[in-house]
Amino acid sequence: MSDGAIKVTFARSGRGKAQCPPNPAYPTGIALPSPFPDAPNCLVKLPYPAPECGYWVIECQTCETSVMITAAGRPDDPISARIPCRAAVPTAPHP
Ligand SMILES: [Zn+2]
Repeated sequence: MSDGAIKVTFARSGRGKAQCPPNPAYPTGIALPSPFPDAPNCLVKLPYPAPECGYWVIECQTCETSVMITAAGRPDDPISARIPCRAAVPTAPHP
């Protein structure tokens, strides 16, 4: 896996803290699956929870994939995400 090649930055939406209550189904965060589960992907841990409403920008500097994931600074924020990565090894999926 290409640790260190993935950059995670947070972009604030400008709306500040979330106004709505979190989804009670996810009290400890959501581990987002890859949108293409059969394709090679990398597991990216996200700082949790997010500081406020906005989105995470995840950029793989090896294959230049970038993904945006919304977050709200609540318990149901994403805790990790799998992103499609051409540099991931297809025969050795990450745990
Ligand atoms: Zn990549």
